[in-house]
Amino acid sequence: MSLYSLTISEARDLLIKRDLTVQNIVSSIFARIDAVEEKVSAFLTLTKDEAFSAAEDAQKKINRGENKSLLGIPFAIKDNMCTRNIRTTCASKILHNFVPPYESTATTRLSAEGSVLIGKTNMDEFAMGSSTENSGVQITKNPWDLERIPGGSSGGSAAAVAADECIAALGSDTGGSIRQPASFCGVVGLKPTYGRVSRYGLVAFASSLDQIGTITKNIRDSAIVMNAIAGHDPCDSTSAPLPVPDFTAVLGRDIRGMRIGIPKEYFIEGMDREVEQAVKEAIRHLESAGAIPIEVSLPHTEYAVATYYIIATSEASSNLARYDGVKYGLRNEGKDLMDMYVSTRACGFGAEVKRRIMLGTYALSSGYYDAYYRKAQQVRTLIKKDFEDAFRTVDVLITPTAPTPAFKIGEKTADPLQMYLSDIFTISVNLAGVPAVSVPCGFTSGNLPVGLQIIGNHFDEESLFRIAYAYEQGTEWRLRKPAL
Ligand code: GLN
Repeated sequence: MSLYSLTISEARDLLIKRDLTVQNIVSSIFARIDAVEEKVSAFLTLTKDEAFSAAEDAQKKINRGENKSLLGIPFAIKDNMCTRNIRTTCASKILHNFVPPYESTATTRLSAEGSVLIGKTNMDEFAMGSSTENSGVQITKNPWDLERIPGGSSGGSAAAVAADECIAALGSDTGGSIRQPASFCGVVGLKPTYGRVSRYGLVAFASSLDQIGTITKNIRDSAIVMNAIAGHDPCDSTSAPLPVPDFTAVLGRDIRGMRIGIPKEYFIEGMDREVEQAVKEAIRHLESAGAIPIEVSLPHTEYAVATYYIIATSEASSNLARYDGVKYGLRNEGKDLMDMYVSTRACGFGAEVKRRIMLGTYALSSGYYDAYYRKAQQVRTLIKKDFEDAFRTVDVLITPTAPTPAFKIGEKTADPLQMYLSDIFTISVNLAGVPAVSVPCGFTSGNLPVGLQIIGNHFDEESLFRIAYAYEQGTEWRLRKPAL
């Protein structure tokens, strides 16, 4: 096996036993990038020099007998997390030259555990999208089929993990942006509970929904990364002051008697047949391992997409007001201040970002606020209550991650509504603030990965890990690799 395909726990064992060095792993990753990146286009920035100097550092620590959890592990980071002295663009022209003077808490915590940054990954501009086609820079290809999108908005991170261009990655998820690309690329994507991981240094899209999470090759790696990044941070007032359990401790624990809820609203007309079959087969598998399936209802599901697109765009219109050409990013000079603002924003933002700023500004404007924004907040409360009710009778919920496998490049770009519908199964989770993970559960006849979504109660990532690990270990999907 090549070094670049190691998982975190495999690499760590070999490093600790001194069977290989961090430099060996990092060299192997960059050789892999040289071989496949031209086809995949997952990265916006590669940090090779920094990576080799971090590798040297990590190796010294290993030699001294230090035992941190991510010592020497190569990571890719979505380009909306601030990395000190390393360009952070959100794949937007308006931030093309932004070099943050500070580091996000999540990446600070990764480095504190000894991780090695390989590069920053492509995304939909400001994380708005489901295919990475809204990137202002480049289109990332799905490693399983280069004519297809990798999903989005964390498409670069998911593709990089699937293509073995890094061992693990961070993404962000506002309405599905970790889980949907993970599902399309055949890797594991976890969106933690809102408040579990600090958002300090994450460029804000919709602050009441955004959450940083993990994209990894398997469930154990996700638990290891979560151990590193989770926990209260005084720099983010929405991060929860709760103790963080050791997420690896539940792996391997028996799932007999666990109640898995199957929401009937998530098996809908128009859903891909092969996706439906794969998910139903996964439920049977869990049942044979001793879990108890129970049909449940989340009655307000049909309003989720509409509610999300009012709340997310409203928050975005406010958050993106800061890109005005004054403090950082692109600046187009104009004849006066107003002219400078207008010209900077007109040329710095892409079409989808502009669409959302306009939608959100409209929904918040006086006279429409009650009809749209306030109404959406009320419906959000009902959606949240659906989940609270369901979790009174079940431990987790099981659904497909997305209604279809990865679609073709260009297939949905002309119709934003079709694009929005690809998040139909992931969006409610963000509105409710609960955690969810996508884990590979099969392949279509065209060899495209399918993802199973497991949703948990607030701050109960442990149940997700327990069920997902049992499922993963009982199946072999994670062993398949794309032929690049
Ligand atoms: N695809 C959804 C959107 O376009 C979700 C994006 C995300 O989670 N960042 O808003």
